[in-house]
Amino acid sequence: MIYRGRFAPSPTGPLHFGSLVAAVASYLDARAAGGEWLVRMEDVDLPRCISGADLDILQTLDAYGFQWDGSVMYQTQRTAAYQGALDALSAKDLAYPCSCSRREVGEGPYRGTCRNGIRDPGKPVAWRVRSDEIDDFVIKRSDGLFAYQLAVVVDDAAQGITHVVRGADLLDSTPRQNWLQQALGYPIPQYLHVPVATNAAGEKLSKQTLAPALSRKDIALEIRRALLFLGQPENDSLAAAIPAWNSAVIPAPGRFHDSVQSGIPGRPAEFTL
Ligand code: GLU
Repeated sequence: MIYRGRFAPSPTGPLHFGSLVAAVASYLDARAAGGEWLVRMEDVDLPRCISGADLDILQTLDAYGFQWDGSVMYQTQRTAAYQGALDALSAKDLAYPCSCSRREVGEGPYRGTCRNGIRDPGKPVAWRVRSDEIDDFVIKRSDGLFAYQLAVVVDDAAQGITHVVRGADLLDSTPRQNWLQQALGYPIPQYLHVPVATNAAGEKLSKQTLAPALSRKDIALEIRRALLFLGQPENDSLAAAIPAWNSAVIPAPGRFHDSVQSGIPGRPAEFTL
């Protein structure tokens, strides 16, 4: 079986327990299948990135025993590829420029103000997809930065990713990414969304919720905790956990599904958590 997985952290700070869970799940699923596992630095939103966080993340991964294949891809090096994808969508009339500010758009799906022509020519424009199935989400921001949704899809295709294992906080993104993959003629990987670690207040662990950085001292303990969280047998190291990996016992949501977007021929329209 051909299997190529990846871990795609955003270098906005050090890894925390929530990132470890995603890294462990994607790593073990790949290695248990005899597959490859790549690391990609998702620094596309450069203003949010912290200088040196990429190296800190790689050192932590190394200390925890993760071994990645190939060199680490950086999204800041990929602007030309993203622009190529935007041009391809635009040539098919599947993307359009939009001058609406965040305030004008407000909450909820985009109402399509600029769908048939920019409302305020002269204002900086963002680019949105033209979709009848989901909302017309942004793929290039008005500050010129490409949006996460487009970058991930272009990079997953360029790296030949066959399996995406990541946190369920990204479930909302998957139909958008599936839409882009279909529009760009890319293969659609398999997706496995694992439960998201929360703090005592029920908030997702993140920099915003002040999640503590992963310890580099209690590595065996943190690995045990991550395996427990993923419903796996007890083990102190990643190497020992590979042969014991069983994705079927991950607490829901933890089942592979082909696609969460309806309308893709031959693929289920729904998935169960
Ligand atoms: N960079 C994203 C994050 O850190 C992950 C993207 C993905 O796995 O598709 O949340």
